[in-house]
Amino acid sequence: MSQSPPQPVVAARDLRRTYHLGEPVHALDGVSLELPKGSFTAVMGPSGSGKSTLMNLLGCLDTADEGTVEIRGQPVASLSDGERARIRGTEIGFIFQTFNLMPRLTAAENVALPLVFTNPEGVDRRERAERLLSRVGLGDRLDHAPSELSGGQRQRVAIARALANEPALVLADEPTGNLDTETGAEIMDIFAELNAAGRTILMVTHERHIAEHAERIVHLVDGETERVEQLDSAGRKDGSEGSTAAGTGAES
Ligand code: ADP
Ligand code: MG
Repeated sequence: MSQSPPQPVVAARDLRRTYHLGEPVHALDGVSLELPKGSFTAVMGPSGSGKSTLMNLLGCLDTADEGTVEIRGQPVASLSDGERARIRGTEIGFIFQTFNLMPRLTAAENVALPLVFTNPEGVDRRERAERLLSRVGLGDRLDHAPSELSGGQRQRVAIARALANEPALVLADEPTGNLDTETGAEIMDIFAELNAAGRTILMVTHERHIAEHAERIVHLVDGETERVEQLDSAGRKDGSEGSTAAGTGAES
């Protein structure tokens, strides 16, 4: 018998989402997408093409009108609100264009926040936050408030926070959108390392050179998949050599 392929981290089928605010807007009009474990996918498309709507559905922040989302084989629609919140907190790491850090908390406190899901007693939370911040090069900024950090440093804190619970999936919506080119490139280096270490990543961007860090680009237009572009190692930016480094640091 032939072996069945490994279960994808995310399998979305025929997703539809219509917003009713005046005239109905078909933000997503039948999008299907599978994210194999360890894959790095970029989503590109004009403003309003449904990129964020897709992220919100895959990240269990919103539910589809039609179609299904499975996370590690688990149909999200069958879950209670509490179970969905738990998946959001433990299986998915979110990274946003505007960082979305808590302004009154320090870097270490921000990173420790999601650990309430997995470590409610709070034992070693601080240590774990320190380790995560060191990994993104911020070991010397633990007690700084977001306002005392640069944009690139804030995004590093957000990445450390997204990784806090070793999520199955990292969802990033325009993670370099508010950063200058050089800082954006540094953030993409971190993404390449994460992917080389086996993380599954889905990243929205409207910048071609950022999307080229991924293995493939899904092009959305008017809520539909226009085409899926596979990037070979020649077309791909500097993440390609990472495939030989699979397994390094994924669980640390
Ligand atoms: P993108 O991220 O590609 O710019 P979005 O997914 O944010 O696109 O939006 C897709 C379409 O859905 C747009 O036309 C947008 O105006 C509309 N839309 C998004 N969110 C909402 C909402 N909460 N209520 C009403 N319309 C929305
Ligand atoms: Mg968007």
